[in-house]
Amino acid sequence: LVLPLGQALNAYTQLQTGLGALQRIEEILDLPSETAEDRPAQAGSGSAEPAIVFENVTFGYPGGGTPVLQDVSFTVPAGSRVALVGPSGAGKSTVLALIERFYEVTSGTIRVGGTDIRDLPRDALRRRLGYVEQEAPVLAGTLRDNLLLTAPGADEARLLRALDEVNLGALATRTPDGLDVQVGEGGVLLSGGERQRLAIARTLLADAPILLLDEPTSNLDARNEAALREAIAAASFQRTLVVVAHRLSTVVDSDQIVVVEAGRVVATGPHRELLETSPLYRELATHQLLVS
Ligand code: ATP
Repeated sequence: LVLPLGQALNAYTQLQTGLGALQRIEEILDLPSETAEDRPAQAGSGSAEPAIVFENVTFGYPGGGTPVLQDVSFTVPAGSRVALVGPSGAGKSTVLALIERFYEVTSGTIRVGGTDIRDLPRDALRRRLGYVEQEAPVLAGTLRDNLLLTAPGADEARLLRALDEVNLGALATRTPDGLDVQVGEGGVLLSGGERQRLAIARTLLADAPILLLDEPTSNLDARNEAALREAIAAASFQRTLVVVAHRLSTVVDSDQIVVVEAGRVVATGPHRELLETSPLYRELATHQLLVS
């Protein structure tokens, strides 16, 4: 344990990707190692409580003017897959940041597993949530260092399985170094798609029952696109998934879609229904912001 964490801390000091990323790395490093007994029981579809509930949430960034989210309400049933869609700047990523409690809501309530997140100790909340942002921070060091961050003590087989699940198995076999292959400063030796899938593998290893995923906006090549789709499918197996979606394929596969426009929820429903009922969704799905 000492060696990888030492390397991680060393890498941590070298990270040049801004305060936000540093803060998140700090949170990853803060994650306590988890045992099966620690794991929250409400992992998947069996739970009576919804995984996440937003109740009339209004929020403005500190020092900002008008609220970024206004009177937002929606429910994410445990074990379901919910996509947030909407124009750029609508407030989708902010929804994820509030679930993580990076900021406090101005008014309204967010519940996770039935409990107001203000009543949950931060580590208990974070243990329930895996968060993969668009530009997922990757530490300088090896593949193994990056994976062990969320699963200290995990054996080789478990690390390799997580890599396979996100279609990164080849990274560990293409050099004689195996899992000890260097990923470069901030993961520069990996493509953007690979970096995000590595972050997904980390959350799979952490085994949080709820996964929050900010899908990349950038165009991925066909292979990375398919790999991401499979990684998301693997990640949502027996988990609740909330994804800020920029791809039609991600949205179509979701149980429920929440359409956000200028900080408000303007429609919710499954894909087929929204095509009929929401002009904005139809526009997003047919030609504007969702990549097919
Ligand atoms: P995109 O699809 O482009 O990622 P989004 O729907 O996820 O957009 P958010 O990133 O949630 O939108 O941003 C919503 C609004 O909040 C935007 O006007 C944005 O400029 C503002 N905003 C986002 N982050 C911050 C921040 N840390 N401080 C102040 N304002 C912010």
